[in-house]
Amino acid sequence: MTARVLVVDDIEANVKLLQARLMAEYFEVLTASNGPEALEICQRGKCDIVLLDVMMPGMDGYEVCKRLKANRKTAHLPVIMVTALDQPSDKVKGLEAGADDFLSKPINDLALQTRVKSLARLKMATDELHLRVSTGHELGLDNISESNIGLPSDHAGRVLVVDDRAPSYEAMVSALGSIHTVTVVTNPQEALFRAADESFDLVIISLAIENFDALRLCSQLRSLDRTRLVPLLLVANEGDEASLIRGIDLGVNDYINRPVEKNELIARSKTQIRRKRLNDQLRESVQTTMEMAVKDSLTGLNNRRYFDSHSENLINKAIVGEKPLSLVVFDIDFFKNVNDTYGHLAGDDILKNFASRLNKNVRSEDLACRFGGEEFVIAMPETDVALAYVVADRMRREIAAHPFLIDGGKQQISVTVSAGVSSLQGRDDTIEGMIKRADEALYQAKRSGRNQVIADAA
Ligand code: GH3
Ligand code: MG
Ligand code: MG
Repeated sequence: MTARVLVVDDIEANVKLLQARLMAEYFEVLTASNGPEALEICQRGKCDIVLLDVMMPGMDGYEVCKRLKANRKTAHLPVIMVTALDQPSDKVKGLEAGADDFLSKPINDLALQTRVKSLARLKMATDELHLRVSTGHELGLDNISESNIGLPSDHAGRVLVVDDRAPSYEAMVSALGSIHTVTVVTNPQEALFRAADESFDLVIISLAIENFDALRLCSQLRSLDRTRLVPLLLVANEGDEASLIRGIDLGVNDYINRPVEKNELIARSKTQIRRKRLNDQLRESVQTTMEMAVKDSLTGLNNRRYFDSHSENLINKAIVGEKPLSLVVFDIDFFKNVNDTYGHLAGDDILKNFASRLNKNVRSEDLACRFGGEEFVIAMPETDVALAYVVADRMRREIAAHPFLIDGGKQQISVTVSAGVSSLQGRDDTIEGMIKRADEALYQAKRSGRNQVIADAA
């Protein structure tokens, strides 16, 4: 993973040291020696993560962080506060300023790498979702909105704590309990079942569970489909470094050292839960985008694109199986008048209702689509022209007999529809040919006074 890390420190030696260590891990590094310079770089969108020294002359790190978080353009940038003293009060101040995580000097290498990587992943997920949102807007989709990205800082998650020592898990419950819903499980085997059964946003695992290798649980959680993506946070003791490195190789997302510092735990949990939520949103949006690609957004029917790809299969199947196949093209009569008289929104309501009535009148093996505008098509496998005519005419009568409600049910409009029917003519026939003949029949229906169905005579 590459990310552009901005290192902000007023002491050049510190900057150089961090720069070298980050570059060794293939991060791109930018540097700034004071607050205003850092703000300027962030404002220009040059970096993905900020490593921010707290103690700087002039504008200190808290102030820089506050300004970054207050600015719409930079509020999404993850900020890691670098504190000189391991003082809880520094972290409280940092959290209040909006910091996403902490490192204390002297900076431990594993801590540096893990923190930067974890926040780089968060930033990537955020960026990707922002991109989807803007693409969605360009396509006219409103399934995700800018304000839905991530979650507000106090948003509750479901956290599973796996730890067998009461003082230890009680401290975690007391730190996280007011923000999240916390479940404690003392038996690792049970933890695996619970994690697979319930959907947690974060699993916190103690490395010091008696008679049990906590890394085994991590590896099991990573291999099960249902828990593969849940964030894992290890709680380690001084000297657990070798286990931590193995854990991180297994896919553990982050860790925290004992004695567990409340604010550090809150910050780290928040980062993991936010990233999980972003990834959930991303997957959902991919799903929606795929549906959008084949569905008409107004009526929920299949769209022309879907019809074009699917109708080839239908015609091949009919030809190979020597079965009939029919097509009906519906076009609402004088629809322009409806729009002109009652407005476009009323027109939309009618189209939606028309689509749902159409859906009710076809069999599950029929393919109903909105072709565009007020034109709808049904492809009917194993249906000859006579039967297709009956179905189309039943639909026509149903439409004419039951007026459409508009304006929230306050008004009724009578609408009629015309249709043209065609059916497969021999092995050399094509979908284009069938559509063309159905269109010609439809045109005849329109010319002969509308509100009628005409079948292609071929
Ligand atoms: P005809 O009986 O000959 O079919 O007349 P018509 O007015 O229905 O046909 P025409 O093709 O002249 O007009 C179709 C109208 O359908 C014009 C267009 O504004 C309207 N229309 C197309 N798509 C939509 C839509 O998504 N929503 C609404 N409200 N109207 C639409
Ligand atoms: Mg029309
Ligand atoms: Mg038309």
